[in-house]
Amino acid sequence: MDTADEAAEVRRFWQRLGLPGLVDVHTHFMPERVLHKVWGYFDSLGPLTGGVEWPITYRAEEAERVAVIRGLGVRAFTSMLYPHKAEMAEWLNGWAVDFARRTPDCLHTSTFFPEPGVQSYVREAIEAGTRVFKAHVQVGAYDPADEALDATWGLLAEAATPVVIHCGSGPMPGKYTGPEPIGRVLARHPRLRLIIAHMGLPEYEDFLDLAERYDEVRLDTTMAFTDFSERMAPFPRRALPRLAGLGDRILLGSDFPNIPYPYAHQLAALERLELGDEWLRGVCHDNGARLFGL
Ligand SMILES: [Zn+2]
Repeated sequence: MDTADEAAEVRRFWQRLGLPGLVDVHTHFMPERVLHKVWGYFDSLGPLTGGVEWPITYRAEEAERVAVIRGLGVRAFTSMLYPHKAEMAEWLNGWAVDFARRTPDCLHTSTFFPEPGVQSYVREAIEAGTRVFKAHVQVGAYDPADEALDATWGLLAEAATPVVIHCGSGPMPGKYTGPEPIGRVLARHPRLRLIIAHMGLPEYEDFLDLAERYDEVRLDTTMAFTDFSERMAPFPRRALPRLAGLGDRILLGSDFPNIPYPYAHQLAALERLELGDEWLRGVCHDNGARLFGL
């Protein structure tokens, strides 16, 4: 499908719902050489995983990727970036300041890592206008309940700044993924505004438990319910009513541009859950608009 056809299809989706566009809390923009490394990782997945191919649908230069997502009518998106080691987060955050400045429809995104100085650069990032943080427990291979992060979680809870966190065990488990380590963080910081990436895939029901227990926990839809994810980690049908119950705390996420299918498929995957137009309006726009004051 060409870009114009795809944009028309996505626009028809949100126009039918009477929305002014989409709010996508989980998109990846990062320094080019880091993004190219991420793409290299996905390119190697086929041989590594014994056959799961992950072709990147939107492999293009940054300006073109920004133009594509705007063309779809995404009125607010993020620049999810994350370090895989110490002494990298601050540099990424510096890039993100610049990206947010030149991309006003991007919600200024920052990240962090358990390392000396984390609390002070997170505080600076909040003061510099960060709207959302990204944390990646699998890639970072750290325990989110690590003592080194405790004061930082406290700071984030107090600032009420949302943190999109990849802490589920998909597509591959990490030493500290799954509901237990992050559950310990929430027990200490119950007001923390965590957004569980990928609906917590594949531990969907455990993360729904956390969202039902803590009012400020939300979930993003990134890649969930798509044909691609359903083949590997099907969402349990019996949990569908719980998605309806949490309808005001589920947020559209896509993983654009690193997705192995067109953007419209994520939207179709939400629509075919048959939770209704009101639910779709909340998930695809209104919940994010409310959270970020758009
Ligand atoms: Zn992602």
